[in-house]
Amino acid sequence: MGLFKYLSGFGGRDMAVDLGTANTLVYVRGRGIVLSEPSVVAVDARTDEVHAVGMEAKRMLGRTPGTIRAIRPLKDGVIADFDVTEGMLRHFIQRVHQSRFAHPRVVVCVPSGVTGVEKRAVEEACLGAGARRAYLIEEPMAAAIGADLPVAEPTGSMIVDIGGGTSEVAVISLGGIVVSQSIRVGGDEMDEAIVNHCKIHHKLLIGQQTAEEVKLELGSAAPLAEELKTEIRGRDIVSGLPTTVMLSSEEIRVALDEPVAQIVAAVKDTLDRTPPELAGDIMDRGITLAGGGALLHGIDERLRGECQMPAQLADSPLTCVAIGSGRSLEEFEVIHRVNGRRSSVGLG
Ligand code: ADP
Ligand code: MG
Repeated sequence: MGLFKYLSGFGGRDMAVDLGTANTLVYVRGRGIVLSEPSVVAVDARTDEVHAVGMEAKRMLGRTPGTIRAIRPLKDGVIADFDVTEGMLRHFIQRVHQSRFAHPRVVVCVPSGVTGVEKRAVEEACLGAGARRAYLIEEPMAAAIGADLPVAEPTGSMIVDIGGGTSEVAVISLGGIVVSQSIRVGGDEMDEAIVNHCKIHHKLLIGQQTAEEVKLELGSAAPLAEELKTEIRGRDIVSGLPTTVMLSSEEIRVALDEPVAQIVAAVKDTLDRTPPELAGDIMDRGITLAGGGALLHGIDERLRGECQMPAQLADSPLTCVAIGSGRSLEEFEVIHRVNGRRSSVGLG
């Protein structure tokens, strides 16, 4: 089959895309993850021409002159700006292309809560970006595969994927999602909570980027062994002038409490709806955390405390969705050949 793969002329270029609200990762069959960039596009406001994509465009967020707009085309886990999403996908796909003439098959990961219309939009963006065919895989399934959970076994595994715009909670058994919940709360909501905190408690205006930096430096969901402080710059609401303010990890934890509590509530609610046998399995193995938000300090501890069961981070929270989608790609022919029996693996 390996030989057939190369003879058929496209195997090496098939790819899997984790189209996230915060970051897009591309996995190329046989090569692994080849690209990981913020899902941001800078567009010329007059001509709609794309100026920059990814990291370069992210640096422009909140810093653009009137003629350039830095856009995050995915919001809350769905495509908010179809044309810009398509342009971004095309840019990323072409960047990893080995040949301009190849039209790869692309597996794309979408949040489990998206509607049929939104799924169609993702497919069309891929086809518009040069893919020969697009297949969708549900994000919790990809995350669970990437985290090495025994998804195909008759045992319950719980995955919690905390991304930029959404958090997804799912219980998987026998290759299918048994119960799941997707909430439109994730890392972005945490950044916004920090922006609001600074506005209310320090009369300080800061941008989303600064808020994210504060979150990475000071953010936590449970007390730290050593509480931290950092100085940040922003604009004083009263005087309108630039100023600096000292922030503590304790106050940021309080600011983050609302989004964190919503994520914890989603996990509890999903556990509530989990059939007892599977709940017992999860008790044994624990909850696995994926996505960038899983890196928030103490979120695992918080879940252990509130859900009364073990919880641990996946080996590589930021890449496990891309790796899981990629693994489904490596097994593509297998899945395809026995499609009737294995369609439950999650490719739809
Ligand atoms: P998506 O799948 O939606 O693109 P990711 O899984 O890539 O999202 O996660 C991105 C989110 O994770 C961002 O909101 C980012 O701020 C957050 N994040 C990344 N690292 C950390 C960290 N160390 N602590 C808290 N949040 C983090
Ligand atoms: Mg994600």
